Amino acid sequence: MAESKIGNSELISTLNTRLVLQAVRVTQPTFRAEVARRTGLKPATITNIVNSLIEQGMLREVASPVDVDEVRSGRPPLMLEVNGDVKHVLAVDLEPDRIRVALTNALLEEVDYREQLIDRFSKPDPVCDRILKLCNEIQGSISRGNVLGVGVSLPGLIDRERGILISSTNMPKWQNVPIGPILHRHLKLPVRVERSVRLAALYEQWSNPHLTRQTTLIISLRTGVGFSLIDHGQLYVGNAGLDGEIGHMVIDITGRQCECGSRGCLETFVSASAICTHAEDLMKRGRCKLLKERIRAGEPLTPELIYILARGGDRDCGKIVAEVGRYLGIAVANMINLLAPHEVIISGAIDVADELILQAIQNQVNSSALPRTRVGVIIRLAREREKRPLLGAAALVAQEMFELPKLAQGAHVLRNHQYMAARR
Ligand SMILES: [Zn+2]
Repeated sequence: MAESKIGNSELISTLNTRLVLQAVRVTQPTFRAEVARRTGLKPATITNIVNSLIEQGMLREVASPVDVDEVRSGRPPLMLEVNGDVKHVLAVDLEPDRIRVALTNALLEEVDYREQLIDRFSKPDPVCDRILKLCNEIQGSISRGNVLGVGVSLPGLIDRERGILISSTNMPKWQNVPIGPILHRHLKLPVRVERSVRLAALYEQWSNPHLTRQTTLIISLRTGVGFSLIDHGQLYVGNAGLDGEIGHMVIDITGRQCECGSRGCLETFVSASAICTHAEDLMKRGRCKLLKERIRAGEPLTPELIYILARGGDRDCGKIVAEVGRYLGIAVANMINLLAPHEVIISGAIDVADELILQAIQNQVNSSALPRTRVGVIIRLAREREKRPLLGAAALVAQEMFELPKLAQGAHVLRNHQYMAARR
């Protein structure tokens, strides 16, 4: 019984400490009274915890904005903020065509960043070597003891418990690659892996605490298309974590064959390869003259080039972008009808199309979604679109400092899926 009591008091102490850290993080700089209000803890408990966290260097006191009365009385009130630099996180984002690696502090502020292009047909071993090299370079002068762990964003199907990339449509040589254990073995740090689309949502959840009061849909446009749902602060995880495949929502049952075996999936209209194939067809028919000139001059045919020309006023490229937006709009309208979210966030590598594509999506939603359901739904482009899964990978690790422990069977909560091998 005695052990149990000790265990319980330690647990309560951990819960209270993380509650305080979390309350400070989402409101900082903040007053102790606000922390008490948010957590429901007694002022004396707050004082003890805050003093201890200041001693440990995890919290610090900062001057509040100047108040004339307070200055006269000689007692400027002090506020609290998290000292993000007390811990660091390594984040890795593996995409079919590039690797991104960042070192951030515990508040996800970037300390260093590296990026390298890769060939999506590369074998896993040389790519893993390059990831390790970048991680070692970027750790630089940071003491290894200050690094909480490594968060890894992966495309395709994963086994998050064992840290394995099972398969990725766009990386055909990656089959059952134990990327988590490989990074753990060489970096000697805990490693957690997650799908990129879900990390884009996790970053949203981290940076917008108000999401606890609403349902948010995040559509992620990268090599493929995925979505994640944050429902009142909880990240939705379907059976075996296989949810989010909006790219294989059938838009046209008589459409083109998709790589998944079905026909007319969203990805056959809006994936990078679908956009390029569409442009090639138009060029063969004597259209997209400006695009053809740029390609003849040596530029590769990419969706980004098409988006840039569309923004510059090229009509044919503008029509391609409008069509991408239209098909995305159909998918978004279907999701709005199904889920009635408060907000839809478009994330991914569409920075160069920005407002053009957003307007096309909005127009299609206006004509396809049910009027009562779509009214008031905000559709917007995400901030940090390109780096969002990378920052989500950092959040996957950094949240351990702030989040409350959850029951092991809380399968809706992403943070429970810790890569266990890293602890052994
Ligand atoms: Zn498909």
